Amino acid sequence: MHLSNGRVLVTGGAGFIGSHLTERLLADGVDVTIVDDLSNGDADRVPEGATFIEADLTEPGVLDGRLDDIDLVFHLAASKHVDTDRPHGQFDDNTRMTRNILEAMADAGVTEIAYTSTSTVYGEAPRPTPEDYAPLEPISAYGASKLADEGLLSARAHSHDLTVWNFRFANVVGPRLRGAVIPDFIEKLQDDPETLTILGDGRQEKSYLDVEDCLDAMFHVVEHADDAMNTYNLGTRTTTSVDRIAAIVADEMDLDPDFEYTGGERGWTGDVPKMRLSIEKLSALGWEPTRSSDEAVRRATREILAELD
Ligand code: NAD
Repeated sequence: MHLSNGRVLVTGGAGFIGSHLTERLLADGVDVTIVDDLSNGDADRVPEGATFIEADLTEPGVLDGRLDDIDLVFHLAASKHVDTDRPHGQFDDNTRMTRNILEAMADAGVTEIAYTSTSTVYGEAPRPTPEDYAPLEPISAYGASKLADEGLLSARAHSHDLTVWNFRFANVVGPRLRGAVIPDFIEKLQDDPETLTILGDGRQEKSYLDVEDCLDAMFHVVEHADDAMNTYNLGTRTTTSVDRIAAIVADEMDLDPDFEYTGGERGWTGDVPKMRLSIEKLSALGWEPTRSSDEAVRRATREILAELD
């Protein structure tokens, strides 16, 4: 599949990764339509040149008539936040969106989809975790929703005319990232430069991938992998601890705060404290990250600080 000059639908295109993806596609001459309900996105992030449809993808029928000329769907829309009043709400919303998109694609005869899954489908797994690791036992409704979506996509890919590029992301960071550890530390230190409260014990250790590397890897896989179901981990070979992120953020802000810990090995219920994905399958396809996990965290910190200035 070659992306230049095609017609692409990006779900979640007003979000963090989706807005970067849309910019990249537009720069390559691709005609882009975004569908986003702005529940966690921002209309200001919709790049000039993209067609924007504000719609809730959990509602059936919202894509009727919208996919007729589309070559490929990048499905990024997802609820990433736990609603304690609806313990299964995130699972219901994410799986309903994917089912609705697959049905609309089948009606319109669209046969290519790129899907953004996550390292959390593996649960607490040995590291580095390869794509064929089993059993897949997620420990959050979010991870469960992504694994269920992967199953639905696989079933369709292996029984109908559908090609799926399924990306299991490490933690993706970069400009415009919000609601994650780096912007959280920045905002806390702007409020109180003397003390930083860290969720957990600070020893959580995960792999962070620069958003530009993430897009390069997605494009590379779409252009070079042509099975019915193409599942690839996207990450780096390196990790960064939460303590190290705190140190990088403090350093970039020229501060020397005391660190306080809420305690426990994980930051919140459902947090996988240690994550590093094997990227050997991606490497064998000819792609390598350009930034280490620490470098990705530092660049994101600088960019987000400049945005919040
Ligand atoms: P994001 O929250 O910034 O973007 C998701 C977008 O989806 C938002 O703009 C939101 O408004 C939209 N959305 C949510 N529910 C919707 C609905 N019902 N209808 C229409 N739009 C809806 O998140 P992101 O970090 O850009 O993540 C993009 C994708 O990558 C998500 O699927 C996420 O699960 C996946 N992912 C992200 C990371 C990461 O580190 N950022 C890691 C693993 C997987």
